[in-house]
Amino acid sequence: MFEKLKSVFSSVILNLSKKEITEKEVDKVLNELMLSLIECDVAYEVAEEIGKRLKNSLIGKKASTYKIKELVQENLRKTLLEIFYEAPKIDIIKRINEKKEKGLPFVILFLGINGTGKTTTLAKLAYLLKKKGFTVVLVCGDTHRAGSIEQLKQHAMKLGLKTIEQRYGADPAAVSRDGVTYAKIHKLDVVLIDSAGRIQTDKNLMEEILKIVRVVSPDLKIFVGDALAGNDAVSQSREFLKYTNFDGVILTKVDADVKGGSAISIAYVTKRPILFIGTGQNYDDLEEFVPEKLVDNILLRE
Ligand code: GDP
Repeated sequence: MFEKLKSVFSSVILNLSKKEITEKEVDKVLNELMLSLIECDVAYEVAEEIGKRLKNSLIGKKASTYKIKELVQENLRKTLLEIFYEAPKIDIIKRINEKKEKGLPFVILFLGINGTGKTTTLAKLAYLLKKKGFTVVLVCGDTHRAGSIEQLKQHAMKLGLKTIEQRYGADPAAVSRDGVTYAKIHKLDVVLIDSAGRIQTDKNLMEEILKIVRVVSPDLKIFVGDALAGNDAVSQSREFLKYTNFDGVILTKVDADVKGGSAISIAYVTKRPILFIGTGQNYDDLEEFVPEKLVDNILLRE
């Protein structure tokens, strides 16, 4: 994971470590840093911001009184963590329990482009919640893509969960409403709604999603982004945010992502928390996202 980004940061640390920190030297190294970050799928504006914040934190420091390597490492760490902590924190389990105490199901709508891993991620979260003792129902809200209903039903069968579905072509908002009604009648804790994911600029898709939102008022809207899609994932997240104002992100395929820039970019661009990362194709390959773990993994390599 993140091999490329790791090497970028180590080279910055090395380059500065050899020198006294003057503005000219910082500029030179930061320009190189920016180019390398962009190569690692960090969006241009984000790379620029990292450079700016880092520069501000380094200039004026008396390098000779610090160990330069530690100074740079510490400031990079701070800069990256700041980006992740600009987003509000969401405690899903606490939120589910709060609804449960009111006798109501917690409704989560999954958003994202086809192929990003949305359906698999929904199933992984269902597995995690079931393990924690919650009762869960899955809603086949993608009524467009051939095979999508069967795909979700197959996950449900493996996980021992019920699905709510209608025929292909049915109104996803109506299926979602059925799911929430079912959960209320059967006193279930969580409703997980899958949704269609054609290209993100498809206006009909966004209208369809907004209709689901109007009809079931989800407690949480989660955007699923594919770490391997790099800058595409960033522009998808921007577009979905504009229309749906989603609450949080799950980043998939992090296990196969050598570049590592998408997490930083999506966090910066959307100002939404990354709730989990997908780290494989099995149901338990869903990890809570811990910014410190990612940042330390990138920076603290010798
Ligand atoms: P959807 O079209 O967005 O619903 O995507 P799917 O859930 O069908 O997933 C597409 C492919 O990505 C499948 O082969 C999944 O097994 C795979 N996938 C999903 N999440 C991950 C992940 O975190 N890591 C890896 N390596 N593969 C994943």
